[in-house]
Amino acid sequence: MTPAQRLIYMDNAATTPVRPEVMEAMRPYFHDRFGNPSSIYSIARESKEVVESARETVARALGAEPGEIYFTSGGTESDNWALKGIAYANRKLGDHIITSAIEHHAVLHPAQYLEKQGFRITYLPVDASGLVDPGALEDSITKKTILISVMTANNEIGTIEPIREIGSIAQRHGVPFHTDAVQAAGHIPLSVKHDALDLLSLSAHKFNGPKGIGALYIRKGTRIDPIHHGGGQERNRRAGTENLAGVVGLATALDIALRIMKDEAERLRDLRDRLISGILGSVPHTRLNGHPTRRLPGNVNVSVEYVEGESMLLHLDSYGICASTGSACTSGSLEPSHVLMAIGLSHEVAHGSLRLTLGEESTSDEVERVLEVVPQVAAKLRAISPLYSPNERDYHV
Ligand SMILES: *Cc1c(COP(=O)(O)O)cnc(C)c1O
Repeated sequence: MTPAQRLIYMDNAATTPVRPEVMEAMRPYFHDRFGNPSSIYSIARESKEVVESARETVARALGAEPGEIYFTSGGTESDNWALKGIAYANRKLGDHIITSAIEHHAVLHPAQYLEKQGFRITYLPVDASGLVDPGALEDSITKKTILISVMTANNEIGTIEPIREIGSIAQRHGVPFHTDAVQAAGHIPLSVKHDALDLLSLSAHKFNGPKGIGALYIRKGTRIDPIHHGGGQERNRRAGTENLAGVVGLATALDIALRIMKDEAERLRDLRDRLISGILGSVPHTRLNGHPTRRLPGNVNVSVEYVEGESMLLHLDSYGICASTGSACTSGSLEPSHVLMAIGLSHEVAHGSLRLTLGEESTSDEVERVLEVVPQVAAKLRAISPLYSPNERDYHV
């Protein structure tokens, strides 16, 4: 990127910038009002009140009770706590957990860890658009099933899962239901009552709040062990001095996100659909990944065949465009994304996937610019690809 170029940030599924109002709301809690909520002098009592007021905000956003909200260090901790905490607390009742093949690693890796500890895990497949089949889920429930964990919306392909149906199935069978709502919270409406949820994870940095702060909703009466042991914070369930400024940041960001949600979702859907139809219309051999309509307002994920995702990202970066791909070479592995594999893409096609995720700061001009650049980048890369020939009959894949 040259200095004159303005950055076009289209990776809001990875993280989002903190809103200035959120930073302002957090600021006093680093110095002037730094008291430890567990202490008893007045600045500490103020801190305690601030944490409790933030808890009420989060509870209201989810249709929960304040006593059902626990602050954590983010989505990863909330997911780990839900899986391990439920597994260990219910070990005597059963050893079976149901989840999906397209969960975030913050769910899949704890599940794999629990498998090593002797639990049995069912990883439900998804259809070509990324949807879990509630019927198949119900069929996989056994007398030993102690937890169902299915994400509200997928972080790579944006597909919104039928969690209400899954919630009512789980309720009917008396099995606790956890959802990783990290991509959904602050972006689409959530209700722990309507969806019959027992546990829900969220994380502030995915809705213009700070990194390192999240929450886990735990329905009253749910049997769950702590995974952090120490002080008596969070009603003896999550030890560790509260992240005071973080808690304030999370609640402020969530409050704002809810206030603007309806209009913002509509605006982003429009930008999203222009990006999708623009790319599919101007670049041959592209396809949309994820569900065409049941998808997050800001999520675009397309496969650009005969192009390598990483190369596409580097070229886009040279135009000042920040995007993401499903080929995880950056993490030191050549394995394509487990999500793209689960929806049935071949390795080659999965490696050429491009994720563009819109956010609060995304504009129509940015969309136009991306629609100008992506076809150029695809053409440039295909020109040097041994797999691509402009003559349709000469494909080697
Ligand atoms: C980002 C993300 C997480 C992890 O949250 P952190 O706060 O970054 O730990 C978990 N699940 C999903 C679906 C995510 O998008």
